[in-house]
Amino acid sequence: MEYKITGKTQLICLLASPSSHSISPIMHNSAFNKLNLDYTYLSFDCGKDKLRDAVKGLRAINCRGFNLSMPNKTEVIKYLDKLSPAAELSNSVNTVVNDNGVLTGYNTDGAGYMLSLKQEGVDIIGKKMTILGAGGAAAAICVQAALDGVREISIFNRKGNSYNRIEKIIDEIVKKANCTIKLFNTENENSLDAEVSKSDILVNTTPVGMKPLEERCSLRNIEILRPELIVSDLIYIPSKTKLLYEAEKKGCKIINGLGMLLWQGAKAFELWTGKEMPVYYVQDIINKNRI
Ligand code: NAP
Repeated sequence: MEYKITGKTQLICLLASPSSHSISPIMHNSAFNKLNLDYTYLSFDCGKDKLRDAVKGLRAINCRGFNLSMPNKTEVIKYLDKLSPAAELSNSVNTVVNDNGVLTGYNTDGAGYMLSLKQEGVDIIGKKMTILGAGGAAAAICVQAALDGVREISIFNRKGNSYNRIEKIIDEIVKKANCTIKLFNTENENSLDAEVSKSDILVNTTPVGMKPLEERCSLRNIEILRPELIVSDLIYIPSKTKLLYEAEKKGCKIINGLGMLLWQGAKAFELWTGKEMPVYYVQDIINKNRI
């Protein structure tokens, strides 16, 4: 595949730490190339300590936009001019668009997750969801699911910073969406069993199931899994976490995080270029690169 950089090529990039494992450069550059768009996407190792200077520099050179990943999704907010409703509600930004010096922060993770369910033929509008974890991705999914019309969401996390942070966000979401959202301490196993058994979909948003925790299952009591429950995991390496493996054995439909990764990227691509990403073409390239 041939990429041409010209004097007019516009830069889009990722600011994260670590950053070298990211597949966003492959996703976006293959899509730019396919559509003959004069952009290039690079990945930069940048943590919170360098973020202020990096954003200032990208604004100065009129970079078209950038993505944020760990640990920058909340930190970046103070350097931006505007926020989309989803970014504001979730207090988390994964995509920035620069319109002639005005930096607007968006969060496409939630929309990406919802689109990945749609791609799998799953309609959870009006239904009940249980979320394991309460970090940035959980907040983004909770916001989008509530705005899209999910009826009830139960979130489980251990007590601590993530728990306290999402507790505040929940109040704001319920003011704007017709959704019941309840927060539980994961240690309360009876509640977890009860909520999962009443749910249509269970989603793991914790890193339990990926390296170095790949031997662990994010759900302690796998006996509550039943064939009608859809089980999804945001992790995509490994492609089948212990949770998904156990759920599949119980007859559940399982969905890993690759679709979310693809669709959050597609949403960001559209924000920067105004064009639809050739999603299935990009998906093919990702699969060929064995990601
Ligand atoms: P995050 O903000 O750091 O949140 C992580 C959450 O998991 C927190 O609620 C945290 O709770 C909990 N957690 C961490 N370690 C745990 C453990 N050992 N046991 C139980 N809970 C634990 O991270 P994030 O950005 O939300 O990302 C979460 C996961 O989603 C990661 O695996 C990430 O790779 C994945 N992700 C995938 C996509 C995709 O496109 N597929 C997009 C975004 C994220 P405490 O704060 O209490 O530790």
